[in-house]
Amino acid sequence: LDQLEAEIIERKKAEEELRLQQVSIKATEELMAKKDEFMSIASHELKTPITTVKASLQVLEKMVSQNDDLKGIAPFVQRSSKQVNKLTNLIDELLDVTRIQAGRLELKRSEFNLMELVTECVEQCRLADGKHSIGIRGDESLLLFADHDRIEQVLSNFLTNAFKYSPEGSAVEVHIERLDDSRVSLSVTDEGIGIPEANIGHVFDRFFRVEKTSQNYSGMGLGLYISSQIIQGHHGEIGVRNNPLKGVTFWFAI
Ligand code: ADP
Repeated sequence: LDQLEAEIIERKKAEEELRLQQVSIKATEELMAKKDEFMSIASHELKTPITTVKASLQVLEKMVSQNDDLKGIAPFVQRSSKQVNKLTNLIDELLDVTRIQAGRLELKRSEFNLMELVTECVEQCRLADGKHSIGIRGDESLLLFADHDRIEQVLSNFLTNAFKYSPEGSAVEVHIERLDDSRVSLSVTDEGIGIPEANIGHVFDRFFRVEKTSQNYSGMGLGLYISSQIIQGHHGEIGVRNNPLKGVTFWFAI
């Protein structure tokens, strides 16, 4: 009888433990949902005013370039524009994450020449950076059926990171190639600080940043997460490897 009683007490304990675990899981899920909701509302609310500020600054920039009397304020307008662009990118990243969480990252596919996209994107990044030498290599006739702007966003993320995490004056190379009848690949190689092997498997995780290195650079650890979701949406593969000597190579194949 004693043994039976002991068994009943044990079972009740286990049931209580399970109940508490379920309560804690539910509370965590509710908290996560609230956090996602907050992120969605905050990013939408921030987007409207920043878009207005950006448009006004563009008007100011034009006025400054056309009027010699306004030359004195040109550096201030330029500085403000640069910071507003940074803010816009951060808000866009938050909005993208919100879309991904809600399963609403829509892809608009069309056929385009990959080299043309690479050349345009590199040109824009060169204007924004100007501190690295960027090389482009590969097949000029590759056609891709994909979401042009989203693929450009992935390349732009790879390039921005390559600039951010490698010393001024170092080389960055973009390489595109056909893998087989139905797949093409794009890679970006830099000569930067590289990624510790222990962390390399996590760089595509949401909010992940390599602790030691990232504290010196701004960012939220979202660019690569969004990039991986974009490539997954195209049923492709994305990856990264450390180069034999220094730096990393980020790549995708679709
Ligand atoms: P972040 O905004 O922090 O750059 P990302 O998602 O683009 O976010 O990158 C995640 C992390 O991966 C970065 O914080 C950095 O630690 C690491 N990382 C990304 N690209 C590179 C690179 N080219 N070289 C070294 N580390 C990189």
